[in-house]
Amino acid sequence: MRNIYDLTIEELEEYFLSIGEKKFKAIQLFVWLYQKKIKDFSEITDIKKSVIERLKIDFTIGKINLIKVERDIEVNKYLFELTDKSLIESVLMRHDYGTSICVSSQVGCNMGCKFCESGRLKKVRDLLPSEIIEQILKVEEDIGEKITHVVIMGIGEPFDNYENVTNFIKIINNPKGLSIGSRHITLSTSGIVPKILKFADFPYQVNLAISLHAPNNEIRNKIMPINKVYPIEKIMDALKIYYSKTKRRITFEYIMLDGINDSKDNAEELVKLLKGINCYVNLIPYNETNNIEYKRSKKEKIDKFYDIIKKNNLNVTIRREFGTNISAACGQLRSKREDI
Ligand code: SF4
Repeated sequence: MRNIYDLTIEELEEYFLSIGEKKFKAIQLFVWLYQKKIKDFSEITDIKKSVIERLKIDFTIGKINLIKVERDIEVNKYLFELTDKSLIESVLMRHDYGTSICVSSQVGCNMGCKFCESGRLKKVRDLLPSEIIEQILKVEEDIGEKITHVVIMGIGEPFDNYENVTNFIKIINNPKGLSIGSRHITLSTSGIVPKILKFADFPYQVNLAISLHAPNNEIRNKIMPINKVYPIEKIMDALKIYYSKTKRRITFEYIMLDGINDSKDNAEELVKLLKGINCYVNLIPYNETNNIEYKRSKKEKIDKFYDIIKKNNLNVTIRREFGTNISAACGQLRSKREDI
């Protein structure tokens, strides 16, 4: 039986037409699902009984289970179990501008980034739109407030699950759905070039972030194997096309790894690479884990790196640190649980 959260509003309209009902019922149902947050179709009061009975036969509402939460002042980390017993994670962060959630898009990940705890588990499967949406619904239920920002940056490479992730975006962005503004949604990719080009034509004003993490191919090949398939120059060419079509500023994520990518030369090379691109650089102090040998760059080195980029008039920030006490680096909660 399908999960109702998997359907976009257009797919629901088609469904209602296919059972001989008017398509506007899709809007009514979206309001019940995402604004009134019903758990059972019987709670619906403005759709006739026979249709509700049919919905019960054709669909379930929600399937994932929250099995663990680690809480800190500014960040909560959630572990979910899916129907096939796979584990996925989400992270909630509180900011002065609202609450953001970092959602997973796959069980495991095939990109194999060397610094990433999630990459240690090869991809088992893609997540369905419903399984990504439910991460938001369950966390909203837990905190009793609305999530305002969504980053698709948890476990998985979202562009390796393109259809489901873009359907997820359509559903959460819909004003009758969760109504999360497209400018409040960020998709982060390790740089899958054909999908960057496809995403340039996706008609939603969603932010794109590139997990760059290195200023040249030599370093990037070592820490991100996907770079051998889509090297930096190919990513940059794709981004030029993406920008010419969308006019949207691009974010570059850069994890600061001690002795690997954090020298003065690296900063200068990064500046050269990004000069002239309408972008924003996000320096991320690395969250060390027991299973991976990389260390976090020293604070002075991060500050110096930041200064060089700033001096060259690129937009840059150092990401505020979230949850180093509670395994908030992606994949850490799942891996801790599986080690038990
Ligand atoms: S950093 Fe992202 S893309 Fe790379 S292995 Fe981890 S989850 Fe996959």
